[in-house]
Amino acid sequence: LVALTGVNKHFGALHVLQDVNLSIARGEVVVVIGPSGSGKSTLCRTINRLETIDAGTITIDGNPLPQEGRELARLRADVGMVFQSFNLFAHKTVLQNVMLGQLKVRKTDKKAAEEKARALLDRVGVGTQADKYPSQLSGGQQQRVAIARALAMDPKVMLFDEPTSALDPEMINEVLDVMQQLAREGMTMVVVTHEMGFARSAANRVVFMADGRILEEAPPEQFFSNPRSDRAKDFLSKIL
Ligand code: ATP
Ligand code: MG
Repeated sequence: LVALTGVNKHFGALHVLQDVNLSIARGEVVVVIGPSGSGKSTLCRTINRLETIDAGTITIDGNPLPQEGRELARLRADVGMVFQSFNLFAHKTVLQNVMLGQLKVRKTDKKAAEEKARALLDRVGVGTQADKYPSQLSGGQQQRVAIARALAMDPKVMLFDEPTSALDPEMINEVLDVMQQLAREGMTMVVVTHEMGFARSAANRVVFMADGRILEEAPPEQFFSNPRSDRAKDFLSKIL
């Protein structure tokens, strides 16, 4: 579904992605881990073209990423992204947040958009919060709204960049549970996280990055019990 081939990216002198090859099958859940600064966020951001790349190709459904305009807006809808900071529209209600993209990008009619938004908000467990503003919600609730907003676009793939890192501990599980459910329902997902419990239970594959390279890729049981590189061993010894 998603294929990165020979992807390279620099920020000035910093070679932040080095010859990255990664293909993600439909329905697959890939968890990306690695030290701070290893390029995990940048990798995610290249997939929906929040970052451009210097060399290599990225395709979705076999099509190269569009460069601009309406095609780019559609790509961002097809590739849902959930960030560490929830990035909801502060001056719109929860319901409006989940309706907006449907109206603007998907050109859904208002009634259908509202029905879908309410159903999704119920699904992520915040149906009763629809008429509130984001600031009136807990972090865990806001993040679930952000997930509902992305899902409203019927994305082909969902990218999560440390979706629980900004949350108080007691709210982490309510977000991970929603993600776990999505994974079970067959959503294609790329998840950058330090939640190794989630990686073990939800991932089909763990990708370990260091210094802009993918150093290891393996099913979670294999990766956690038998990491091959010293970098991965060292990383795991610090976080487990
Ligand atoms: P973390 O675990 O801390 O989130 P990460 O693996 O997500 O780290 P990235 O955010 O992808 O890492 O950053 C990789 C490197 O690129 C870092 O050294 C970072 O400082 C640098 N970098 C990221 N974005 C930019 C930018 N817009 N301009 C310049 N350098 C950047
Ligand atoms: Mg990051």
